[in-house]
Amino acid sequence: MAQEVSSGVDFIRAKILDDNASGRYGGKVHTRFPPEPNGYLHLGHAKSICLNFGVAEQFNGMCNLRFDDTNPAKEDTEYVDSIREDVRWLGGDWQNREYYASDYFEQLYAYAEQLIKMGKAYVDDLSTDEIREYRGTLTQAGQESPYRNRGVEENLDLFRRMRAGEFPDEARVLRAKIDMAASNLIMRDPVLYRIRHTAHHRTGDAWCIYPLYDYTHCLSDSLEGVTHSLCTLEFANNRELYGWVLDALNVYHPQQIEFARLNVTNTVLSKRKLIQLVESGHVSGWDDPRMPTLCGLRRRGVPPEALREFCARVGLARVNSTVEYAMLEFCIREYLNKRASRLMAVLDPVKVVIENYPEDAVEVFDMPLHPENPAFGSRNVPFSRKLYIDRDDFRLEPPKKFHRLSPGAEVRLRYAYLVTCREAVLDESGNVRELRCVYDPQSRGGQSPDGRKVRGTIHWVSAGHAVPAVVRLYGHLFAVENPEDVPEGRTFLDNLSPDSLRLAQALLEPALAESAKTGECVQFERLGYFCKDRDSTQGLAVFNRTATLRDTWAKLEKKGE
Ligand code: ATP
Ligand code: MG
Repeated sequence: MAQEVSSGVDFIRAKILDDNASGRYGGKVHTRFPPEPNGYLHLGHAKSICLNFGVAEQFNGMCNLRFDDTNPAKEDTEYVDSIREDVRWLGGDWQNREYYASDYFEQLYAYAEQLIKMGKAYVDDLSTDEIREYRGTLTQAGQESPYRNRGVEENLDLFRRMRAGEFPDEARVLRAKIDMAASNLIMRDPVLYRIRHTAHHRTGDAWCIYPLYDYTHCLSDSLEGVTHSLCTLEFANNRELYGWVLDALNVYHPQQIEFARLNVTNTVLSKRKLIQLVESGHVSGWDDPRMPTLCGLRRRGVPPEALREFCARVGLARVNSTVEYAMLEFCIREYLNKRASRLMAVLDPVKVVIENYPEDAVEVFDMPLHPENPAFGSRNVPFSRKLYIDRDDFRLEPPKKFHRLSPGAEVRLRYAYLVTCREAVLDESGNVRELRCVYDPQSRGGQSPDGRKVRGTIHWVSAGHAVPAVVRLYGHLFAVENPEDVPEGRTFLDNLSPDSLRLAQALLEPALAESAKTGECVQFERLGYFCKDRDSTQGLAVFNRTATLRDTWAKLEKKGE
């Protein structure tokens, strides 16, 4: 996976360089991206994907895709399929190394029997609540379960009967026998297996006991020969258990390294929360273009290259922080600026009549598809007496420095002519219904014939040729920077922005309507980047706004904020 910027050597790459120099893994670098298939991937996962696949590629290593599918109740093949698609889209290539923790169930079970035989695991009959009560607190040692000192034979027998389905859910668990007084609470005899009479999306009814994350994850890493197991900071406390399991079983020991989670302003990055947005109908689905999911971003028109650049710029840290959403938009703009064709669209049309232009005449202007890159070629744009411009480009009473159209003012119609507004015709409620203008026939191509200054240039479409389209204008899904910061009794859903989606009945120049392909991003001149949506029909195109042209990020950076 190509890394768009090299941000120097971060602490993880520094560690790998060290390990390679010392020969710790014989110069081998093997990572994995380990999603749980219980939802769609989001921006946070993009960071992990770019890191794991990026590191592997950089050091001529390998990166596995491993589904961490140990919780049958929440997982589904729909999620597996979406994850494969999203990782591939972002540029992650796991070749033939697509693994599932569930493929290791038999092996994990054998390891568990081994732990029991070594006296390092026992079957506990305490209930979930009792186990919690017995665990103690940060300041108080835990209490040993009365079942802790069962003999090996009894434990083996009970564990085999757990597997055989003799006991109901929650009746018993298998626990590691470590230390109920450990200062790290995770080490106080953690649960390794629990009973769940629930079918699994891959193993069906083969199992009614399922291994827990901490037990499964380290052993999966070990079985796959992973060298550097990269995970987020909240697993720092689990590292001790990760090591304990591998050491107890005396198997190959990868090293776990933690890095900071990605947080982004005005959105939430947690599958549990995203699923709530989908299920409550606040968004149209996982791929609603307002969602921070990879499929949502893709549908919005965000190119994978821009996302990779974003992840590279975010970099790696050992402390959690929040990144401005504007930085993602900056990366999107930077990428699309060089690659998107320019066309004209009017989002809020106001009619313009060029009074001195012949009634039935039509001129066709040849306009470049990219102002700086002739390789894009050009398109034909028809011009006629009746046009539309954007309502926002006209002011009845213009403020100072308003260089667009107003009564008596002259502007350039992009690549066409200079026009002067003679009169604004208003409707009963005072809204502009039509602008009566005159054009300068000497200004063909938008050139000033006598050197007079015309400051403003506005976009337009020809009324008789324009094609209607629906344009979805997206804003932040959440109105506040940190949607999860809520007072008692309220939830992140209370922070949803009421106008994260506005619909515009737009008019497009004909070339735009004809040529854009679904999923393709173009620039509507002066308005932003827009991506043709799959909801488009033969008669009516639908475009999603990918990003505006306003660069709030560059401004923030300049101010040194
Ligand atoms: P969520 O909180 O959204 O459920 P998760 O961590 O439970 O996320 P997993 O499917 O277990 O989701 O994550 C797969 C990998 O992606 C893990 O290695 C995890 O650390 C990483 N990951 C998840 N969210 C982020 C994030 N916000 N920033 C960086 N990495 C992340
Ligand atoms: Mg998880």
